[in-house]
Amino acid sequence: MMYPKPVYKKKRKQHKPSILQFKDGTCYLCTRLNGDYGRKPLQEHHIFGGPNRIHSEAYGLKVYLCIEHHTAGPAAVHNNADNMRILQRDGQRAFEKEHTREEFVRIFGKNYLDDGNYRVEWIDDEGFIRIKRGFETSEEAYEWINKHRRRLDYPMVFGDAYEE
Ligand SMILES: [Zn+2]
Ligand SMILES: [Zn+2]
Repeated sequence: MMYPKPVYKKKRKQHKPSILQFKDGTCYLCTRLNGDYGRKPLQEHHIFGGPNRIHSEAYGLKVYLCIEHHTAGPAAVHNNADNMRILQRDGQRAFEKEHTREEFVRIFGKNYLDDGNYRVEWIDDEGFIRIKRGFETSEEAYEWINKHRRRLDYPMVFGDAYEE
């Protein structure tokens, strides 16, 4: 008895698409920093590199960058700590839409969103200093205070200068 040959489908290695950006030919940082939506040759950049590259791939934490924003020149993320940090912070924010901060820190080993951020400190009912962190701007921190005004004694906003 003859059986038909089984059909083998070519399996491709699964690549998770970026969760930050559509692959539409625009550079993530040209768009983000300069409002430039022009299409240009792009390279894929994994936001968290080294040992975290595999995690960046697994969670779609990658972006498409033009050469000037990837590897060539002073604005390139591989040369520019500020631009690198923008991607890392955006990447963590995107991750945290689906997962917790604890998970992020457990997987990637670091929290990128508290550095250089603003925090509110106040005194609680027992006289202890309480701290709420993670405000992007001092305005955000003051808005949060206004929302919780009745529960907060002597609220103050602090900002840490970001140091590498
Ligand atoms: Zn660019
Ligand atoms: Zn890269």
